[in-house]
Amino acid sequence: MRLGDFELTSLSDGVFRLDGGAMFGVVPKPLWQRRAPADDRNRITLGLRPLLVRTPSQTVLIDAGIGGKLSDKEVDIYGVDRTMHLDRSLAAAGLTARDVDVVIATHLHFDHAGGFTTLVDGVLAPAFPRATYVIRRQEWDDATHPHERNRASYLAENFAPLVDAGVVRFIEEDGEVLPGIRVARTGGHTMHHQLVRVTSGGRTAVFTADLMPTTAHVDAPWIMGYDLYPMDTLAYKKPFLREAIAGEYVIFFEHDPAIAAGIIRERDGRLAVEPVT
Ligand SMILES: [Zn+2]
Repeated sequence: MRLGDFELTSLSDGVFRLDGGAMFGVVPKPLWQRRAPADDRNRITLGLRPLLVRTPSQTVLIDAGIGGKLSDKEVDIYGVDRTMHLDRSLAAAGLTARDVDVVIATHLHFDHAGGFTTLVDGVLAPAFPRATYVIRRQEWDDATHPHERNRASYLAENFAPLVDAGVVRFIEEDGEVLPGIRVARTGGHTMHHQLVRVTSGGRTAVFTADLMPTTAHVDAPWIMGYDLYPMDTLAYKKPFLREAIAGEYVIFFEHDPAIAAGIIRERDGRLAVEPVT
């Protein structure tokens, strides 16, 4: 889609599956399974949708999917299907990994940062060889000092090689990363999880990452059990929803299996997402 001077394209790194209960926190299964049917292992299907932003001067990628480095066992556990993987999706947009100038990380969990690195002749290397990777310093610190609750989500092979290659630009606070592209810390999912806001021609699009991973998570109390600080998610989400509805923001849903982007509308006190293509 066109947003002022920018071209925004929702990409694909395939689909994967996570436990439905963990995806919806305190919401009971009879409610969530109407929106997201579970398989025989109680998993629901989720998209992996990095966002491509083409500005007049740069090609920017926000997150990079789950990547191709998982073991066969992990591919089975997470039901990963990368038939439409990121390189293929970039090719459909007329690009290769070499064309990406900047990669922005919302956070460093494996389903967002898995595609940041790749194996070249058995050695880990940046998957986007010309790119600068923009990473929040405090998220980096958490990712490199994991604890029992988040250890399974932070795989060093996805981000440690980037510093070794000297391609990371660390940021410490909210603000403009590139003209028209800003990051803002949401907290909640991880302490330093951030969303990315793209503004051009008077319109705003927001890549909410795991603040609202799917359209089913738009309602304020529909918060993932995976979130480390769910009350912070709620505290960020409520005013953000008001702002997004009033501003008719185009929201990009990174994990929605069917809807890549939409505008949140409120009718009779209920929220609904009107898809945008
Ligand atoms: Zn995620």
